[in-house]
Amino acid sequence: MISRIDLRGDTLPEGAALRDLLPRAEFDVEAALETVRPICEDVRHRGSAAVIEWGEKFDGVRIPSVRVPADALTRALQELDPAVRAALEESIRRARLVHREQRRTTHTTQVVPGGTVTEKWVPVERVGLYVPGGRSVYPSSVVMNVVPAQEAGVEGIAVASPPQKDFDGLPHPTILAACALLGVDEVYAAGGAQAVAMFAYGTEDCLPVNLVTGPGNIYVAAAKRLLKGRIGIDAEAGPTEIAILADAGADPVHVAADLISQAEHDPMAAAVLVTDSAELAAATEAELAPQVAASKHIKDRIEPALAGRQSAIVLVSSIEDGLKVVDAYGAEHLEIQTADAAAVADRVRNAGAIFVGPWSPVSLGDYCAGSNHVLPTGGCACHSSGLSVQSFLRGIHIVDYTRDALAEVTHHVVTLAEAEDLPAHGAALKARFGWKVPQQ
Ligand code: NAD
Repeated sequence: MISRIDLRGDTLPEGAALRDLLPRAEFDVEAALETVRPICEDVRHRGSAAVIEWGEKFDGVRIPSVRVPADALTRALQELDPAVRAALEESIRRARLVHREQRRTTHTTQVVPGGTVTEKWVPVERVGLYVPGGRSVYPSSVVMNVVPAQEAGVEGIAVASPPQKDFDGLPHPTILAACALLGVDEVYAAGGAQAVAMFAYGTEDCLPVNLVTGPGNIYVAAAKRLLKGRIGIDAEAGPTEIAILADAGADPVHVAADLISQAEHDPMAAAVLVTDSAELAAATEAELAPQVAASKHIKDRIEPALAGRQSAIVLVSSIEDGLKVVDAYGAEHLEIQTADAAAVADRVRNAGAIFVGPWSPVSLGDYCAGSNHVLPTGGCACHSSGLSVQSFLRGIHIVDYTRDALAEVTHHVVTLAEAEDLPAHGAALKARFGWKVPQQ
């Protein structure tokens, strides 16, 4: 069901050579660019009519209007199962608690007497938040997108999620209810590239946004990549990944359950166990079969995800080597199930989020840990962070020097300007001091 990669024995290669030995999904966003380009161009030129037609083609339902009417949001919240409402409220409460404390404060550095640089954090004005709704629907992604945007102080928040055949072309009612719970009333029944293009170019129904965030499939990722520049984007958050670094002390029942929990998302989801214990590897393999058989989305997602080239059990000689492997992999979610898990976790350099010890499974982070679940995939964790309050803020440097403070540094500025053959830069300072360099 899941392949093995045996890296025991030899010295581990470094960097890219090690990465090449590790499993990873074929997630060719570049190739998908050609698919999404005509969709984005069409939305740019024909607006809402194009969004509706592409939705009909891919989501199988023709919607009367792209904007979700206010009464549909109210109704969805009224009809929401009370247990789901209570769980969503707890998820929101915990996410708010964490994200509120992440907001950076304005900071002023006195560089010299009379010379300061202040870094002021300003929220993006208007954002488009994408909530997936193809194979699964993700009301949890409403929470994970909206809470940091709100905590950052964003004023214009629009949400898009694919129209659903079974719900008259509206996004899934739990998604609408989550929006209503969070006080978001601008919601669009739009999915995939057409939703991202709608946000980027604007249509007669939707004003353009400055930034698009949120997870999604390859078409969402490709549209974000294509339109980046016109809009800001967060990291690419594609098919989910779990890596577990575990030793002989880990419980194979937990390990197998956690691997399956992420394989459940998508046939392209990745589940990777890195262990120095052949016994744990064998026990996990033995445990996977009955647990998969007892699961729900076996044939369409879990089996292909576990059997795919993106999933594997990687055997290493030591947890030390395991750390090198998980750093080279840069997992979206990384569980540490070893002795001294916190100390091992502290040494990890590349991961979207780290889950420490046996009582911090990834599913907790998907919903109710308080952390954000929109995380970089495909190795992007080596250079990018997950969604946070910071994603919705821009830091602006404010420079404020007095005459004396400027006079004191003018000779250095003039020297550097001349070294760059840009004498007018120096002249701009000399003009303030009678066209001379002030004496030191
Ligand atoms: P989705 O909403 O991302 O995609 C559905 C849309 O894709 C459709 O509305 C349609 O417009 C478009 N589409 C479908 N087939 C197409 C085609 N052939 N050509 C062009 N466009 C097409 O929903 P999904 O497909 O279920 O994917 C959600 C993904 O998000 C999963 O892979 C899941 O693992 C991932 N996810 C990631 C995170 C994260 O933080 N990394 C969090 C939640 C979900």
